[in-house]
Parts: sequence; C-alpha cells; structure tokens
Amino acid sequence: MSDLRQRFFIEDSPIRGEIVHLEEALQTILAKREYMPAVQSLLGEMLSATALLASTLKIQGRISLQIQATGTFKWAMAECNHLGEVRALADYEEDPRFAEGTDSRTVLAALTNPVLFINIEPEHGERYQGIVPLDQPTLAGCLIQYYDLSAQIPTHIVLATNSQRTGGLLIQLLPRNEEEQEFVDEDLWPRLTMLTETLKPEELTDLSANEILYRLYNEEEVRLPEAEELKFGCTCSRERCANALIQIGVEAVHESLEIQNPIQMDCQCCNTRYEFTAEEALGLFGEHLS
Ligand SMILES: [Zn+2]
Repeated sequence: MSDLRQRFFIEDSPIRGEIVHLEEALQTILAKREYMPAVQSLLGEMLSATALLASTLKIQGRISLQIQATGTFKWAMAECNHLGEVRALADYEEDPRFAEGTDSRTVLAALTNPVLFINIEPEHGERYQGIVPLDQPTLAGCLIQYYDLSAQIPTHIVLATNSQRTGGLLIQLLPRNEEEQEFVDEDLWPRLTMLTETLKPEELTDLSANEILYRLYNEEEVRLPEAEELKFGCTCSRERCANALIQIGVEAVHESLEIQNPIQMDCQCCNTRYEFTAEEALGLFGEHLS
C-alpha cells in the first residue's frame, strides 16, 4: 500500500468521501527530525487531514493546518497542494507531558493557549483563514465541530497514525436541490457517520481503502474513481525566502549580513539551503553596495 487518496461515492445519494494513506511521505518527514511518538502521531493526523481537506477544494494552490501555542509546544504545520504534495513540521521543546502517551491526544491535552488555523492559499485569488477551536480531545473531533459550527457542508472525519503510516477518512453530505431532497433516505447520513465511528485506528492505518469501504459500507453501493497518488513535496522557493527577508525589513537584513554573508536560509522541511549575497539581499530593497 503506497501513498494514495481514494475518492468514493455512495451511489444514488448526496454522500461522497475520501480515504488517504501516507507511509513514504510520513517516513520522509519523520526522518528529517526526531519527534517524540505523541508528536509523530499528531503530525501524521494533521498530514492525513490536510490531504483529505485538499480534495474537497477545487482550487490550484495549497491548504494547510497550523497549530500555534504558547507553551513548550510552539507550533506544528501540515500542508497539501493540488498536485498531492504534502509536507509537515513541528517545533517544540522537550516536555515530560508529551511522553505520557504515544497518542496525539497526549500532545493536544498539554498545549497552552492552542489555536488551529485552516489556511487556504489559491495560486490566484484571495486567501482564506479559518480558526478552529482546539477544545476537543482529538484533532478529528475539533475539525468535525468546526464544520458543524461554521454551517458548512456536514462533514465527518476519522484520523489515525501508527509508527509506520497515517490514515484518514472523510465523508460529506453534499447540498441537494429541493427535488433531490425528496428522494433522499434521511437516515443515511446518521447511519454512515455512526458506521464510520466504528472503524478502529489500526483498521484505518492498516487496511486498504477497498477493505475499509467494504468493512464500513458493504450494505451500500460504493463507486470508486481511480485513486490519486500523494507524495512528499516541499513548496519552499527562493521567492518565498526573498519575501521573508522583505518582511523582516532592511535594518534586520543589514544586521544579518554583519553576522553572515551571504545570508543562508535553510528550509526545515526539506533541508534545501538558499543563499543571498549582500548585493542580492539589499537589492530586494532597491539598495546597492557602495
Ligand atoms: Zn523546502
């Protein structure tokens, strides 16, 4: 089983869904930096969640989930773009509370003033940011509540990560027109969300998409288009680094150049190094070397 996203439709109903599995991409991310098991679990779930949410958007661009907190755990991010490229990264200090369990709940319960952002960044067009309260014990629970409260499309999500791979499943009840409404089995959505909740974490990570769909919805007719491949990919670029320099301002760039010339900027996600000579860095501000 490789890194895949499988869309599915429940025939003759307004319900569609996605299943994702990420193994190679998760291993690539975990090999770049050493994370405690509970943090690995959280990063894996964030990664699966972004890959699921990306499939619900019809844009060219990327979607990211970003947790920010003020204690020993500073931030975590996971991102997926329309090409199915994913990346994730977290920054935290050692904290014995993170070692109390291996589950992402351990980290979520220990966060100080946490906020979860959903960022949608189309290549062309306006950016969107949603704020998700992190007041449920699980990431999936927080996302479900967010969809409930923001009166968006009813959405149900389950997520799980083990040391090898991460998996996620999302189902959505799509809007219907009045005519369609009449022919819909009203019990279908509550029944399917309840069935989805019976999936055990080890089933979500270890079974193939086909096996999961059979295990959950064998009484329904499920239609599957071809699965899409997902892979690790970084969206860092020289342009994004240049923008970061512009943001910190010309004075800070002068100060950096006194310490380090050329300025070296390393991407923590993929370890790519970007260098800016004094001439290049100051050129961003229209300044020239005398
Ligand atoms: Zn990178």
